[in-house]
Amino acid sequence: MTSFKAILVSKDDERYQARMTSLSPEQLPKEPIEVAVEYSTLNYKDALAITGESPIIRHFPLVPGIDLAGLVTKSEDPKFKVGDAVMLNGWGVGESKWGGMSQRAAVRGEWLLPLPESFSTKEAMAIGTAGYTAALCVLALKQHNIMPADGDVLVTGASGGVGSIAVNLLSNLGYRVVASTGKSSEVDWLKRQGAADVIDRTELSSSNRPLAAERWSGVVDTVGSHTLASACASTQYGGVVMACGLAQGMDFPATVAPFILRGITLVGIDSVYCSKERRFQAWDLLAKYLERAALQGLITIIGLDEVSERAPDMLAGRLKGRVVVDVN
Ligand code: NDP
Repeated sequence: MTSFKAILVSKDDERYQARMTSLSPEQLPKEPIEVAVEYSTLNYKDALAITGESPIIRHFPLVPGIDLAGLVTKSEDPKFKVGDAVMLNGWGVGESKWGGMSQRAAVRGEWLLPLPESFSTKEAMAIGTAGYTAALCVLALKQHNIMPADGDVLVTGASGGVGSIAVNLLSNLGYRVVASTGKSSEVDWLKRQGAADVIDRTELSSSNRPLAAERWSGVVDTVGSHTLASACASTQYGGVVMACGLAQGMDFPATVAPFILRGITLVGIDSVYCSKERRFQAWDLLAKYLERAALQGLITIIGLDEVSERAPDMLAGRLKGRVVVDVN
């Protein structure tokens, strides 16, 4: 195997840097499976890792990228053989372990899922951790018996990766979805993804009332902070709020009022160390209910050389949908 391209994040006393570089096979970590990566993605967490805005990367230098999809080129694990199409989401990859923004990766079998039959490697990465997290939120909503007839479901950060896929999945499952966004220019786009109604995110992000009118049977919140607090305050009696993100902030300036007066449930969603069984359920839901045509309209494809430039745009909320990284 010859040298290959990757993004490498390094840090010293002077600077934090993410740059595209050429690596040699000897630099790959010693893991039982090697993968020729076809696609990775740019998730919010990757943008934090690449810019150094949050301490996502645990040791340096490291290849970022919490997602990858490609073909197995070497395997000492009997569960995977050369030529298998595989994907990986999370497990600390791109944080404490070599990530997906590289033409080659070395990983453990426990972290890999076979590529679902209905998706290409590109489609799997168009979904990526963001889409699979959206599916985890939808599974939680269903597990708490929130049905389409129970009322509107709110999705915050709706034009982002998690949000846009949540909108699409929920509407295909028959829910009436209200999308909250800061992008007035994307109202029609969100309606095409399946939103029945679109609200301006300032309605939620600037309110700090302990209780407000009961509007949502369920909420998929990708934003945290005041938005999550006001989503809880406006959730109807017995409703369920899935908290999965922090695009507005990590704080949660709420009161107990919606919990003790309306019996609402706040469900935490983690994609990184989620069980394999749950991952299979989430990908199965995506295979059944995510519209392929809509997925095409959600993606922007970039090369490894564009990742550093796009990461700050993502943190500033200037991107929409999903960013797929074609590593080749
Ligand atoms: P994106 O950057 O694609 O989307 C985030 C969206 O949030 C933006 O598009 C914007 O949507 C909205 N937003 C951005 N800044 C603000 C702000 N200051 N106030 C309010 N809204 C804002 O990110 P992802 O969809 O990939 O991820 C969303 C969140 O979910 C992130 O915090 C990420 O870390 C988290 N996440 C968590 C996972 C888990 O395992 N729990 C897994 C995957 C993601 P709009 O303009 O439409 O309002």
